Amino acid sequence: MTGVRDVRKVIIVGSGPAGLTAGIYAARANLSPLILAGAQPGGQLMLTTDVENYPGFEQAILGPDLMDVMRRQAQRFGGEILDDDAIGVDLSHRPFTVKTAERGYQASTLVIATGASAKMLGLESERKLLGRGVSTCATCDGFFFKGQELAVVGGGDSAMEEATFLTKFASKVTVVHRRDALRASKIMQDRARKNPKIAWIWDTTVDEVLDVTQGKVTGVRLRNLKTGARSEMTVGGVFVAIGHTPNTQLFAGQLELDAGGYIVTQPGSARTSVPGVFAGGDVADHVYRQAVTAAGTGCMAAIDAERFLEAEGH
Ligand code: NAP
Repeated sequence: MTGVRDVRKVIIVGSGPAGLTAGIYAARANLSPLILAGAQPGGQLMLTTDVENYPGFEQAILGPDLMDVMRRQAQRFGGEILDDDAIGVDLSHRPFTVKTAERGYQASTLVIATGASAKMLGLESERKLLGRGVSTCATCDGFFFKGQELAVVGGGDSAMEEATFLTKFASKVTVVHRRDALRASKIMQDRARKNPKIAWIWDTTVDEVLDVTQGKVTGVRLRNLKTGARSEMTVGGVFVAIGHTPNTQLFAGQLELDAGGYIVTQPGSARTSVPGVFAGGDVADHVYRQAVTAAGTGCMAAIDAERFLEAEGH
């Protein structure tokens, strides 16, 4: 760290749709935002292929291409983007401090858009086939699997929701769960259990997603955790629905978080529990988790920051 320089009006942490949209709005409001984009910029859309549900793109756009366009749009209006990770923040007094490995920055307002990460099984084959038949978002990718047989991994509400949603497209959806009891709420379980297109495999884990050599999903290799029996199931897609982790480790103890670790915002706004700190995107949303809702709440965060500064006479 080489010391703290001038105080920025706005620092935005994160560069998914929420962070970059906040950047576009803050830049166009002449707030010269600094966007700490992270060492791996772009957020979850960097892990997807075709995005067909982002309004304005009648034909699909690739996730990374969409993020590239948003990034250039933020820069066009004077947003300064640094591909560095924020590794520490001090929200205890204003101006707030944000640290990277290199140095510290100070800001009158902070927009947090650090997103959430889908939990993964941790298999090499899963990582290699992500976006090629392995998905963490049925709303995003279900449409690509019309008429196919699919697997959903998990036993919580997300898994029930994804499995139920996928039956709109798939010929059959098999839920693979590691125990013999679901964690999901009764109502979500009942809905899934009544669905004739949903089958169940209990006490079972996915050992491998097939087939890396073909570069696409052709099936899964399964192992029963009680008997040790191994089997293979042919599927065209695997939806991993074992939960998300909000990227809020930096803010724990400094901002109000809910039981799941998501930032709590005041209803109808992007305001957090600390005046001058705003949040948008998946870091504060475990319900919708869409690129377009992230962009929308990122916009709200920038407008809230602008109004906050205005009220202070900046
Ligand atoms: P969750 O409740 O934490 O459930 C995760 C599921 O994945 C559990 O069944 C867990 O198994 C399984 N799992 C975790 N790690 C695994 C691993 N490494 N390998 C295999 N299985 C694994 O997560 P969620 O379903 O995403 O829900 C998160 C929160 O959002 C919950 O509060 C939920 O109610 C809420 N939510 C609500 C709705 C809705 O109401 N519409 C929809 C989605 C989510 P175990 O059961 O064995 O631990």
